[in-house]
Order: sequence, then structure tokens, then C-alpha cells
Amino acid sequence: MTDASPALRPYVGRFAPSPSGPLHAGSIATALGSWLDARAHGGRWLVRIEDIDPPREQTGAAQAILNTLQRLGLHWDDTPLRQSAHLDRFEHALRSLEAGGQVYPCGCTRREIADSQSSGSAGGALHAERPYPGTCRAGLAPGRQARAWRLRVAPGVVQFNDRCLGSQAQEVSREVGDFVVRRADGLWAYQLAVVIDDAAQGVTDVVRGADLLGSTARQLLLTRTLGLPEPRYMHLPVVLAADGHKLSKQNGALAVDDQPPLLVLGQAMTHLGKHLGFDAPQISGAPPLQNWLAQATETWARRFGILRAF
Ligand SMILES: [Zn+2]
Repeated sequence: MTDASPALRPYVGRFAPSPSGPLHAGSIATALGSWLDARAHGGRWLVRIEDIDPPREQTGAAQAILNTLQRLGLHWDDTPLRQSAHLDRFEHALRSLEAGGQVYPCGCTRREIADSQSSGSAGGALHAERPYPGTCRAGLAPGRQARAWRLRVAPGVVQFNDRCLGSQAQEVSREVGDFVVRRADGLWAYQLAVVIDDAAQGVTDVVRGADLLGSTARQLLLTRTLGLPEPRYMHLPVVLAADGHKLSKQNGALAVDDQPPLLVLGQAMTHLGKHLGFDAPQISGAPPLQNWLAQATETWARRFGILRAF
């Protein structure tokens, strides 16, 4: 059972970037949407640096991200949390799942999983995009070493309501299979870490890019298995690069710190409004940052019918 529904808990939102590089137009639109939703609810907005994947991290990126948010007037509540500062939380969760028989060690290599899936398909990628076949579900084969840990996923459809996209459903057992909660390289899987930290920080509302929509059902499964309160979800339209791909540092995202803050925010708001159906506040006459953000918060509250009792 979960405790009070998110609507009955005081709103806590968060922005949770990984320090793999500076913020770009895409991550700024997500940060802005998440900030506006928290402010429109009169709630708290937390920043969490998801720094548990050292090979993908860039020195100085965490501080650069915080500097950019400050510069844009997207101020946070509480001290930003670094995920790497409390890895014991994840260890504890894994041990509790293990005690309940809900996870099991997997000895498969990526190559083995790919091979088991590639029969009949030409030129299949080596990474597992199709469901894990359940090779180690009943125990490791003799002589095999545990590499990763996987959650045992029962058949059934995971349903949830997305505040932007409406009713969503995924049959995780069929589409993903038993998924990894601790990776073969010893690092914590994103799915586990995000669920544990959202709960630990009392997050009621996850507002993030729609590129993460596909992992939401897995996170809900983990949330329910661990008996944690379920957040509400809102997945925002992803900003695409000119070539139609997801915007990233690799495909020419403009350095946002070289542009005026109001221009950056205005572009992010225009993007969100184009997909979500509202107009960005005018920038002509250059209102101070705080005025523009207050207007944008009003716009957001009106669009999503958020009652502002403060
Ligand atoms: Zn396996």
C-alpha cells in the first residue's frame, strides 16, 4: 500500500540532471516546466545531480548546471543532492528486494543476451532492446558468476496517468522482461536510483522529458514492489534538433550561457507552449527575469487548472 495520494501531500518537484555536460535547450525546457509546475502549485523544487555513472560524467558539469539554473532565475529549495553521496540507500534497497526474493543475480553477458535474441533477425544490435529472455531466473547455471541483479517482473499491465499524455499502459514483463537494478559493472541502474531518491526526497511530482516515458512503468513497478508512495508523472515534449533527433551536446546545442537569460527562457517556454497549447509571456520591453517567471507561472497554472491558494 502507498500512503496519501500525491494530491494530498505537499507538492515536491525536482529536476534531476546527470552531469554529463552543460544544460542545452532541451534540458532547459524540462527544467523550466518542472520549476513552473512546482511554483504554480506553491510547492518546493529540488535539484538532484544524478552522478552515479562516472564514465559518462564530465568534470565541472554539475557546478556548470547549477550556475546556469541560477543565471536563469530557476532557484531551488534545499541544498542540491548528489546521488553519489548516499549509495548506501541503493544497497539497502537491493538487500531488501533480495530478502523478498524479488531480485536475482544474472550471469549473462550482453553478447549472450543479444545472441539469444538475434536468431532470425539480420544485423541485430548487440545491446538488449528486446526482453531479457529470463535465462537466470531459476538460478545461475553451474560455474556462472553473478554479474548484474534483475527485478523479477510478474506478468500484467502497468497503468498510470500522465498529466500531459493521459492514460498510459505498458506490459513490462513482455516488452522489457526482468530488468537490471544493479549493473554488471557494479554501478546502480538508473531505474533503481531514481525511484529510491524520489521517495527519499518526498517527491510527489515527476515532471521530465518524454524521452523517459518508456521507463516510467519500470519505475512504478519498483516503487510498488518497495512499498513506496507513487509520484504523479508529467512528461514534457522533447526539444528536437534541426535534424529531428533528440537535442544533445553532440548535435550542436547552442551554449545557453552565451545567450541572454530571457531569450533562453523565452525559447524554452515557446517550445513547451507550442506542444502544450499556451503562449509564452512577451519578452518585448525586457521585463526583469522575476516578472517574466511570475507571468510564466501564471500561464502554466491556467493551462493546467492549478488552483493557486497562496
Ligand atoms: Zn542472465
